[in-house]
Amino acid sequence: MSARETAELLLQVGRLVQAEGYDGELSPAQWMALRFFARANPFSRTPSAFAEFQATTRGTATQTIKALEAGGYLVRQRFKTDGRSVSLRLTSKGKKALARDPFEVLVRAVDSLDATARTAMRRALHQVLCTLATSDARRQIGVCQDCMHFGREMSGKLPSTGPSAVECLLLGVPIQPEDIGLLCVHFQPVNEHREDEHE
Ligand code: SF4
Repeated sequence: MSARETAELLLQVGRLVQAEGYDGELSPAQWMALRFFARANPFSRTPSAFAEFQATTRGTATQTIKALEAGGYLVRQRFKTDGRSVSLRLTSKGKKALARDPFEVLVRAVDSLDATARTAMRRALHQVLCTLATSDARRQIGVCQDCMHFGREMSGKLPSTGPSAVECLLLGVPIQPEDIGLLCVHFQPVNEHREDEHE
């Protein structure tokens, strides 16, 4: 199969999932925002991080977020340390809506592949994404496990951290275990060898 045929298949998958997104209470962009804020770590629950993730303008991202706030799906909180910054989170209505997310159709389709095919697919798509992000000079958004700033040596640095605590070497803060698999706007990819450790 040629590279063009494979790329067209990717496009078709995207189109089909996008079309599924119109069959519900929210637009595809609004579903994307709900998914993002459900999966974003504490440093990334902001309109600008969502704009980066969606590869769109801050204005477009803000409109999507405002519609979700008006509909009662998202709420914003001011950071205590910075009155200008906000943190967005899902309300219980947002969480209930996400349980009906049309994107799940794609999750189930991927889940129906065997483990070897899923691993190969993840690796290949990750590589394609890295290439696109590099050539387009866009920031990639990923999780701590795949990030070059992910450190494991925090014991003793802070009184609140235990022997198995992990640290963000970029931000110099401990990473809570429940946040390790969440999306981060400060993410920088490591090379593929490190990724293999987490399959
Ligand atoms: S390790 Fe990377 S992904 Fe995790 S919080 Fe730090 S910058 Fe973000």
